[in-house]
Amino acid sequence: MRHSDPEGLYRALGVSPAANTDEIKNAYRRLAKETHPDTGSGASDFQFHKIYNAYKILSDNAARARYDRRFTLEDAEHSWLGIHPVECSRCGKVTAQPRVLTFERIYSLLVFSFRRPVTGIFCTRCAQTVAVRASFSTSIFGWWAVPSAPFLTLRAIARNAMGGVRDEEEEQELLWRNSRAFAAQGNRKLGYALATKLTEAADPDIAEGARELVHDMETRGANPRKIRLKDPWRIKPLAAMIHLTLAAVLPVGIGGVVLQAMKTVSEPAAGTRELASPVPPVETTATIHDEFETTATAARRCWKEPENGEVLYRINPRVAPGHEIAILNNTRSAAIVKVRSAFSKRLIAAVYMYPHASAALGGIPDGYYMLQYAFGSTLTGDCLSFVETKVAWQFPGTENLRSIATGEGPRSLQYSLIAEPAATQAAEVPPLIFSQN
Ligand SMILES: [Zn+2]
Repeated sequence: MRHSDPEGLYRALGVSPAANTDEIKNAYRRLAKETHPDTGSGASDFQFHKIYNAYKILSDNAARARYDRRFTLEDAEHSWLGIHPVECSRCGKVTAQPRVLTFERIYSLLVFSFRRPVTGIFCTRCAQTVAVRASFSTSIFGWWAVPSAPFLTLRAIARNAMGGVRDEEEEQELLWRNSRAFAAQGNRKLGYALATKLTEAADPDIAEGARELVHDMETRGANPRKIRLKDPWRIKPLAAMIHLTLAAVLPVGIGGVVLQAMKTVSEPAAGTRELASPVPPVETTATIHDEFETTATAARRCWKEPENGEVLYRINPRVAPGHEIAILNNTRSAAIVKVRSAFSKRLIAAVYMYPHASAALGGIPDGYYMLQYAFGSTLTGDCLSFVETKVAWQFPGTENLRSIATGEGPRSLQYSLIAEPAATQAAEVPPLIFSQN
């Protein structure tokens, strides 16, 4: 403990700053008798009041403790030499204006939400990084419980966007530590500037210490109008936008999917109605399957019925002028037609067709190809195959479409799909082979 007597209170009572309460009381009683104006000892009122004032402060434990903490700047700076400035708990660098921050992370599952906050002493840079990471994982894992997870998720991201939840008391202690450490290290301006922020601190000890440091510095010529700290913690609109974007990605995405799905259901497309009566073998299986459909399998379904002639897949961009394959679907069922490389069997392109409709796949580059087609109703999640591909055929032989390179120009092939292909016209392919990409 430091024993200083800046205003001479101990000296006035003739005791040492280490004196106990009794010593102070006894000293006061003795001096009071000697100096009381009524005793006619010749002591002035001033002397008596000085002693009375000293006793009033030193006999009150709280007031004495406050007085004991007063010091001269030199005393103080000397005693502060052992204090080290605060380091960021993440990057380890000294940070003049650290903050003690908590960033929220929410993880949710079904009916449970877990709050996994990240707390630390941060420099501005690290705070931003940690905040964005916390919002990112929350934006992915936070939503998935009922009923309160979405609310918790949004609140967490909003708090992160606003710079996290501050522990101001802890923060003031760190600032006070920095203020003293910088002052002792000779960086008095910084020490002074930090102290000016703490004169109204919640902790009375810090506030008083800071006021004394400020007062001492100003009596030595520190000018409060010339020494100002920049606030590195101003909320940057761009950084806040990142959090808002993270919060919006999933809901907007899901909302879009739901809207599209509702639109598709409510729009009575000509082809969609007829899909309810595809070729008999497919229909039977699909109907039974649909009645017991669970949400899990529904999620794997293609969410948007393609248009007639819509290209479902194309390995390369169209080439111009490319070859064309024109198809007429002469059946009562929707069809997918796939063009594969004749040798590697790799899928080159796929097109979706309504019943009794025609379509063309253009822009096909030179190559050797084979053609497969299948009938069905519901499409799988990748919209590339039917959930039940019971009927899949392959046109016999290989098509040589290599005339662009030789200068003969693009070719156009015509195919017709019929419900019962003659054995000479097509060969059945196993559904698995048809579905492979
Ligand atoms: Zn840092």
